Amino acid sequence: MNHISKLSEIYTDPHPYPVGIAFQDGQYIPVSEAKISVLDYGFLHSDATYDTVHVWDGAFFRLDDHIERFLSGVERLRMELPVNPEEIRQILHNCVALSGHRRAYVEMVCTRGTAANFSRDPREATNRFLAFAVPYGSVANDEQLRRGLHITIADITRIPPGSVDPKIKNYHWLDLIMGLYDAYDKGRETALLLDADGNISEGPGFNVFAVRDGSLSTPARGVLPGITRRTVIEICAAKGINAQEGNLSQERLRSSDEIFVTSTAGGIMPVTQIDGQPVGSGKIGPITDCLKCAYWGWHKDSRFIDIVSYPG
Ligand code: PLP
Repeated sequence: MNHISKLSEIYTDPHPYPVGIAFQDGQYIPVSEAKISVLDYGFLHSDATYDTVHVWDGAFFRLDDHIERFLSGVERLRMELPVNPEEIRQILHNCVALSGHRRAYVEMVCTRGTAANFSRDPREATNRFLAFAVPYGSVANDEQLRRGLHITIADITRIPPGSVDPKIKNYHWLDLIMGLYDAYDKGRETALLLDADGNISEGPGFNVFAVRDGSLSTPARGVLPGITRRTVIEICAAKGINAQEGNLSQERLRSSDEIFVTSTAGGIMPVTQIDGQPVGSGKIGPITDCLKCAYWGWHKDSRFIDIVSYPG
């Protein structure tokens, strides 16, 4: 906690790190000082799992669901956390409260850690937990949110679910990163990747929905079960809008009336062009608008929020 006194220096420093607070080894420190060992298998082998939750106007959104997904990833990877769920909740609250951010991007991470004498047996490693809160960030910038994202369908296969279980939120992002480069090379802003059958899967940090004739579809398999995606499906159920999980072909996506992508980092983000072609009218559609409005409305609903107590 004594590192917190340095926070004022960080605030005035033109530091390349975002301003925020991390929790590591029992201490709260400026996020710029949080470090992991180069020998941590989380770094060397992407042997880690994590979750990201956001704080909007001073309240966490669906914190329990994010912690639950994180714990399930930890269990599936046969890791052991040095903290219990209630402690995680408290640590995340403290990171946000100490950061002072009313809109924050909050991450909890468990890495395999290191083992004595650099043993390659994962069972011998001591797993590590860390967390941090930084300012809220979005997949789409303000202009893209206003006019819709321009995306490409990259000719890259997302890591198949038989190789890495996408239900475990993971840092296996090389396919997604190459998808981004493919998009930039083509003058687009982001990308959707395919699954092994050539259907649409997901993009760098988001799920996707296609709208046609008033009904929604979203890929069922080979994707992270996003909490924003789940929220959209629940909003649809509440509004009597048909939303199906299933295969989403490229043709179906390209002939949609509306498309949007979903992430904790940005919420519901419209897509108005695919590979230079307009989606539907080329403007943000009414269903996307309506769901987006409901999504942010649910951020005021006591069923889903956890209010942060900021000091002073
Ligand atoms: N898919 C991937 C690969 C992601 O990394 C993310 C979020 O980071 C998502 C989908 C969206 O998930 P959520 O809505 O829970 O943020």
